[in-house]
Amino acid sequence: MGQRIAIVGAGQSGLQMALGLQANGYRVTLLSNRTPEQIRAGKVMSSQCMFDRALQTERELGLNWWEDSCPPVEGIGLAIPHPEQPGAKMIDWAARLHGPAQAVDQRLKMPAWMDAFVARGGDLRIVDVGLDELEALTVEHDLVLLAAGKGEIVSRFERDADRSPFTAPQRALALTYVTGMTPREPFSRVCFNLIPGVGEYFVFPALTLSGPCEIMVFEGIPDGPMDRWAEARTPEAHLQESLRILRTYLPWEAERCEDVALTDANGILSGRFAPTVRKPVLTLPSGRLVFGMADAVVVNDPITGQGSNNAAKCCKVYLDSILAREGGPFDADWMHATFERYWQYASAVVNWTNSLLTPPPAHILELLGAAGASDGLASRIANGFDNPPDFFPWWGDPAACRQLIGEQTAKAA
Ligand SMILES: Cc1cc2nc3c(=O)[nH]c(=O)nc-3n(C[C@H](O)[C@H](O)[C@H](O)COP(=O)(O)OP(=O)(O)OC[C@H]3O[C@@H](n4cnc5c(N)ncnc54)[C@H](O)[C@@H]3O)c2cc1C
Repeated sequence: MGQRIAIVGAGQSGLQMALGLQANGYRVTLLSNRTPEQIRAGKVMSSQCMFDRALQTERELGLNWWEDSCPPVEGIGLAIPHPEQPGAKMIDWAARLHGPAQAVDQRLKMPAWMDAFVARGGDLRIVDVGLDELEALTVEHDLVLLAAGKGEIVSRFERDADRSPFTAPQRALALTYVTGMTPREPFSRVCFNLIPGVGEYFVFPALTLSGPCEIMVFEGIPDGPMDRWAEARTPEAHLQESLRILRTYLPWEAERCEDVALTDANGILSGRFAPTVRKPVLTLPSGRLVFGMADAVVVNDPITGQGSNNAAKCCKVYLDSILAREGGPFDADWMHATFERYWQYASAVVNWTNSLLTPPPAHILELLGAAGASDGLASRIANGFDNPPDFFPWWGDPAACRQLIGEQTAKAA
């Protein structure tokens, strides 16, 4: 084959692609603005919970190196506090996933994958890629993929206004990695808590640099009571702010946290960004093309925990499309067709994720409530995280949703 492919960005999508192409005989150049050591020694970047189908794309490439050491996430649960009875829950259910999910700290995974890429003969270059570097890469390579996540460079792709309903961040995000949390019984899960008007909190087991941990994810409505991270100026203050939120709104989560401690001083993060879909092909001043992948072109709010899943699945679609090209040119038509194949899947993730960023319509509240009395409904919702197209049409269509509720509730009775 012998085609040369450059990938900018050593994250979930870029590295999975680099190792996948390498295994198929392509000559790959990987560009990262951080060394493996810098990533390992840096702050956490994500909560990166990946569900079974996304994990399968890693297994297919032999990259599932932490499957045995990472604690499994066996299910998904939902709790909504009761509006009138402090400390009580209005909605509370949990269902098992068909296959476990897993969250491996990107500080552990990405450096290990980078080292393997180099050990297998890959050309890793540490450089903060800008337009000049992209121009040079397009001369040297048959295809240049931009997989730079939320890096500044991705703003070169034109925003797709038709596919991007929001122009501003919809949540203030924070992560807190801890040890010592009481596990949920009888099965481990993503405990998803929805606090109307305030935000969301979810928490699940994961693997970090020092071993097993739990990752707390806070999604505060901007400027609300879950958006005070700027005041927490030390890692310990960040942990205390996390616990304050739980004690105030979610006592059943606070009670699991009596003995928690930060995994490390870098086990915290706060920030915000607007969910955005971009046009996937960038034409450089020279007229040559750069093709965007994963978060660089479709970035979702983390509320549904889909970004790493998308990155892995986008990688699979693109890799299959590159292999199917059998040495032919990677022209604009090929790029657009490849992206649209991914978008057939990703559009459902975007629509479902965006729907959770605005107050839920009546049929969704009915659905979430009815799942408490129907294992079938709870299972449908939980397992939709593994494949969000399964949520449609009923998630967005009140009549179809009520029909599903009726069928599943009848079954439960
Ligand atoms: C708070 C939070 C919680 C999350 N939780 C989850 C979750 O539970 N489940 C889930 O699936 N997803 C989650 N995500 C999203 C997930 O982390 C990302 O969607 C995923 O990592 C995207 O992969 P990527 O390959 O597109 O980009 P990234 O993994 O972001 O990688 C991009 C890489 O490119 C590099 N880079 C950037 N600019 C340049 C440049 N100019 N030159 C060279 N290199 C560059 C960066 O340093 C980085 O290493 C979460 C995100 C956040 C912020």
